[in-house]
This record gives sequence, structure tokens and C-alpha cells, in this order.
Amino acid sequence: MGALQDFHRRSIHERDAFWTEQSKLIHWNKPFAQVLDYSRPPFARWFVGGETNLCHNAIDRHLEARAGQKALVWISTEVDKTVEYTYGQLHAEVQRTAAMMQSLGVGRGDRVIIYMPMIPEAAFAMLACARIGAIHSVVFGGFAAASLAARIDDARPKLMITADGGSRMGKAVLYKSLVDESIKLAKFPPGKVLIFKRGLDARMPVVAGRDVDWAELAPKHLGAQVPCAWLESNEPSYILYTSGTTGRPKGVQRDVGGHAVSLAASMKYIYCGNAGETMFTTSDIGWVVGHSYIIYAPLIAGMTTIMYEGVPIRPDAGVWWKIVQDYKVSVMFSAPTAIRVLKKHDPAYLKKYDVSSLRHLFLAGEPLDEPTHVWIQTELGRPVIDHYWQTESGWPILSAMPGVEKTHVKFGSPSFPCYGYDLKLLREADASDAGPDEKAVVVVVPPLPPGNLATVWGDDERFVKTYFNTFSKKLVYATFDWGIRDKDGYYFILGRTDDVINVAGHRLGTREIEEAVNMHSNIAECAVVGVADALKGQMPLAFAVAKDPSRLGTPEGRKAFEKEIMDTVDKQLGAIGRPKAVHFVTLLPKTRSGKTLRRAIQALAEGRDPGDLTTIEDPGALQQLKSALAGG
Ligand code: AMP
Repeated sequence: MGALQDFHRRSIHERDAFWTEQSKLIHWNKPFAQVLDYSRPPFARWFVGGETNLCHNAIDRHLEARAGQKALVWISTEVDKTVEYTYGQLHAEVQRTAAMMQSLGVGRGDRVIIYMPMIPEAAFAMLACARIGAIHSVVFGGFAAASLAARIDDARPKLMITADGGSRMGKAVLYKSLVDESIKLAKFPPGKVLIFKRGLDARMPVVAGRDVDWAELAPKHLGAQVPCAWLESNEPSYILYTSGTTGRPKGVQRDVGGHAVSLAASMKYIYCGNAGETMFTTSDIGWVVGHSYIIYAPLIAGMTTIMYEGVPIRPDAGVWWKIVQDYKVSVMFSAPTAIRVLKKHDPAYLKKYDVSSLRHLFLAGEPLDEPTHVWIQTELGRPVIDHYWQTESGWPILSAMPGVEKTHVKFGSPSFPCYGYDLKLLREADASDAGPDEKAVVVVVPPLPPGNLATVWGDDERFVKTYFNTFSKKLVYATFDWGIRDKDGYYFILGRTDDVINVAGHRLGTREIEEAVNMHSNIAECAVVGVADALKGQMPLAFAVAKDPSRLGTPEGRKAFEKEIMDTVDKQLGAIGRPKAVHFVTLLPKTRSGKTLRRAIQALAEGRDPGDLTTIEDPGALQQLKSALAGG
């Protein structure tokens, strides 16, 4: 591991030289005067004085060499349509969208909220904002009106861009009517709403003077030429709201130069995606993974990016592997939940298609349990890399880095700290360094590397208070995750520090218990929460989805299965982690991005109000949970 260690060491100890080298991966209109300004800790300003543009680096820069190459391929299994755009065509579409936005009064520094389904126009809108220096804030389509209104009031957009509707599992989801509702609730509504009509809402209401039809405006700007605005490296490029634990949304603010450099470098060292190849990221543009690895990074790298509207199991569970085969995808990025969904289907779908073009499958967003990792790697026959990052970081914090050095992957581990991250594991009690295999808080010693959040939009104080206040003695960025490092230097993420449960004075991560439950061969997935217990303070409670539910038909079968799971936990983790009970359900309540709604589960289990459930994927999951808890 010499090369990797040396690479990481240089990134920290020869920081300026290291990042100057990486900065050459993108185009600068004007060179920067200073690599890093860290005169006001913990605020880091990268590539100070340099001028660049994300859209130029994603599109214009490639025109000479690859105008005819596919840049964006949109595949919708919802409306059964595929549309391909070359770099030349994408250039034209983005310029036209930029001109349309300008005609609606949008300029440099203005905010634009994009509330759209996974359609190419959403990508055009993001890139058009980047082109003219407007700040986009993409809001995931699953958010309800009140959540959208809160984001409107925080970002105060000049323009909102939406569609009449999206489609999910063949059912129309109405976007525009929800935008109308959110605007009614907002204190600082936008002056204009631009709507792309897909014919999914025949009765869509129109507000005269405010609503603008994309189809009417677009022809007026055919062939528009809109130059890129050269932005100082530290100007904001976008705001992305995180699903924080408080009611008030927290806008992660990204810069321009650091963002572009970090993404370009990640394509080289982590994802190993080369110009001319294809990347398929199965996320949604409403999440950070979608921003970074559907839109910006693959295009900055000169790749073809696949934008997929649909679910992984429609028309059947082979649809993603068919895309890999058809487009010779070399880099794929997905989430453990999606893989667990596929795991419940016939593995023959994985063998049906030729996936030999795939160099790696990357997974992130939540813990990747060992059985799922083993299953997908075996069935796919390609290397599967677990890597760890957050909305705040914008690119990986922990990962294998095959572009630097090929290292052995340990199941359950997202491998090593990425270059630029001075990562530490600190003991919660006194902020001292933890030893090997000792559970501690994962922190980053600032300055945060390029591409990480620059601040919280409009609230510098909140940035410092939220992220840098965990330890009074040390100024460090808290990831709010527990982790351990084994004797070989591999990290393991054990779950959020804020999901910790305390059983009879012993602190346990719910993730640790889930891992143990998952070791039972008949478990597809599970969620463990801590519930109040009069004797022990808290007790873990498990909700499990069986791969084969045939044993659950009788009370005896259930009891026997529950006992086996408890024995498995005893064996894997020790009796301390044994769940009080195991409830069987056929699905877990999750956000549409695949995060298990543990807090809601916990609240229901404790007989409390589950709170804000606007992001839930399937409300039926809650009903199941309730009847399981009621003994049904
Ligand atoms: P988000 O900002 O919504 O992407 O969530 C970030 C959080 O997801 C992290 O703080 C972790 O708790 C979790 N997470 C992301 N990737 C991983 C991973 N590979 N392993 C374990 N947890 C992960």
C-alpha cells in the first residue's frame, strides 16, 4: 500500500503542490493566485483568485475532441423512451435553456430552484445555471409542499423550474400543483415558474403572469449563444438542502473551482472513468450523488452519462444490467438498498446480460452489509467497492482508490481515507485518538479539502456550530458517524453518532446489530432501533424482511425464526445486542432515496408521533409496522 499511503501523505503535508497538480485537470480562464486561504478557520477558500466555470468544463471544453460523442443518454422505463444527446447537442440545449432563464430575469448570483423529475431538461437547467453563474438548488421530487416552501424561503429564488409531473411505477406524480401549493405557503416566492409539460397532468392549473410554458419560450431561443460567466473559484455554484434532524433545512453551499477540481480528481483516482467511456449512476438529481456523479463529474471527465428515470425492477430486475450491456458502462454507482431490492429477485437476471465492460460497481449512501456485498460481487462477477461520503463532502471521504493503487477490498469496509482528508477517530469522552479496533467518532481535521461544503447558505455561524462544535478542545469537522480502524488501516462505519442506543450503560450502534441480524441467511434486510426500556434504559428492536416468507405463515414458524435471529445476534455480537423482539414486515419505511426512516420507526415503536414523513417512499410500510407492533 506504499503508493496509496504516499499519495495521501502528500495531499496533507505537501498540500499546495498536491492540489496545484490536481487543479490542472480542469480549465481555468484565469489562474489562481493562492491554492488555499485558511486565514479564517474553519472556512477554507480554495484556488483563490482563479476563474473558471463548471459548465465550460463539463461541455465546452470537450467540443473540439468529442462534439459528436454521446454526452447524456436519458432512459425512461416510466414513459418508455430513450433520448441521446451528443456533446454538441447538449451544448446547444444548455445555451438555449440559459437564454430562456436570462429572458426571465435570472443572472449571476440569483437562485433558481429546480423541482423536476429525472428528465433531460432538469440537467439542462442545472448546467445552464452553472453557465451563467446562477445558483441552483435542486429539490428532490419527493418533498412535500411545506418542505419545499421552507427551501424557497431559505434560498429566495428568482425562478423555479418544474414539470407538470413525473412518473413512478407507471403512476403520475404531480409536480406543478405541489409547486403551486408550496408557493402559497412561502414568504419569499419566485416571480416566475418555468414549466416543462410532459402531458402527465391534463388539468394542470396555470397562474397568469407567473407561469411560463417551456414549449412556448424555447422556440424563441433556438440557436442562442450564451457565453460562460467566468466565476471566481469561491463563488457559490449550488445549494443543496440536507435532510437535517431539525425542522429548518440546512443549505449545503458548494463553490465552483474546488468543486470542479475535486470531481475531476475523483474520476481519475477513485472511479477510474475515462473520456469516451460511459458512467451509470442510479441516483436522482435531487441528491448529492446525482449532482456529482450523474451530472458534473462524468461530463467533466468527457464521459457519456446515463440518466435513468424508473425503478430497478421494472420492467424486470434485469433492466439496469441490460443498460450496462447496451451502453458498455464502465463505471456504475448505486446504493446498497437498490442491491438489496435486487437480491429479492431471481439472480438469473444478473447472468442474462454481458456486464464485462464494468470495471467497478461503487456503492454508497448507507452501510453496505457484508452478505449484500458478497452477494452482489459474486453474482455480478465484477469488483464492488463500498465507499463512504456525505452531502457535505460532495465526493468520497473513504474509498478504495484503484486509480492510485489497487488494494484488497474487505467486505463491510469502505477502505481508506481519500486524499485531502486528514481523517481521525477521536474518543468521544476526551477527543483523544482512538487505537486500532476502538470505536470512536469519525472527524476531519480542517481545512476540509476542495469540493466540501464552503458554509451553510446564509448562515456561517450555523456552519461552525453544527459541524465544528463536537469537541470543545479540538476544532474538527464532525461527520456524526461512528467508525473503527482495524490494524490494517481499514475503516468501518458503524452508524450515526446520533443513532446511538444505550443498553444497560453499553453504547451500541444500531448498524452493528443490523449487521448481525443480516448474517441470518434468510434475511433480506432489517432495521434496528433503540426503544425505551424501564430496566435497561434502551433495548434494540428489530424489523426484518425475510427473503423466503413461507415460514411466517404460522405463529410457531414466526417464533422459531425470531429465535434463530436472536441466536445469530448472540453469536455475532453478543447477548447485549439481542433485540427485544423481531417483527416481520415485507418492506421497511424508507425515504425515496433509500434511507431507512429509523427515527420514525423508533417513534412508532415507542408510541410517539413519527413526525415529518413527507419523504417516505411507501406509506404502506408504516401501516405494516403499526400492525406488527400491535401484534398483527
Ligand atoms: P447523505 O448526506 O444523505 O448522503 O448521508 C450521509 C450519511 O450516510 C453518512 O454520514 C453515513 O451515515 C451514511 N453513509 C454514506 N455512505 C456510507 C457507507 N458507505 N457506509 C456507511 N454509511 C454510509
